[in-house]
Amino acid sequence: MMFNNYRLPLLALLLSFPPLSNAEVFPAHMDPVLAMPINNPGPAVRASRLEPIKVTVFLHDDIPANTRASINDSYFSAWRTEMESITGRKVEIKYIANQAPFNNLKYQNVALDPLLQQLGSDVYEYIRRNNIEISSYRTNKFLLLTKNSLNASNAGVAYLGGTTAIASMATYTSPAHELGHLLNGTHERSAVLYNGWWCESYIFPTRIAFRSNCYRYSDGNREAIAAYISDAP
Ligand SMILES: [Zn+2]
Repeated sequence: MMFNNYRLPLLALLLSFPPLSNAEVFPAHMDPVLAMPINNPGPAVRASRLEPIKVTVFLHDDIPANTRASINDSYFSAWRTEMESITGRKVEIKYIANQAPFNNLKYQNVALDPLLQQLGSDVYEYIRRNNIEISSYRTNKFLLLTKNSLNASNAGVAYLGGTTAIASMATYTSPAHELGHLLNGTHERSAVLYNGWWCESYIFPTRIAFRSNCYRYSDGNREAIAAYISDAP
């Protein structure tokens, strides 16, 4: 099932669901995908060998200590397997805690466009200050992981094809969803799949507890992501 214009049916969904009360019944669309700001840098200089996909995950201070040990298994392990299968590249995920300004960023109930632009600036400053070598921004992505949703209806936010996104732990698929946007995946190409029961592919824009998670991208988004990554060294 695909929406030609997801904004219209989602408005109805937003109105028909109760306020956010628990993570199992996430009531609204996952996120807005914002238009890319014009100052976003393009792919950097090409190298000669096939690079791994490197994801840096900054952990917000509000993530409880007793849940941190399971973050990789619960939110990233299946995604890594999916990505390595799609692209044929290794996926390296680095988790970084206690790193200002990411660990204490005020992210709840604020305007999303300025929030994401500020986060992007902070990430580029982090790259510069730490002399991190970036062979291509297509294979180097940065994610701020938070405990809570951004607001009553958004579990994350990203620019399509951008470098930096925010994902919350409100749904198990939010990190894969936002990383998918950074890799050029879209809501329009997402799908509800049927495999004995209905499940939502990673970038499907609504999370409804009645359906399960597929823990994979739709065929259309797999193609889009593979094409996006294939342009990187
Ligand atoms: Zn989305």
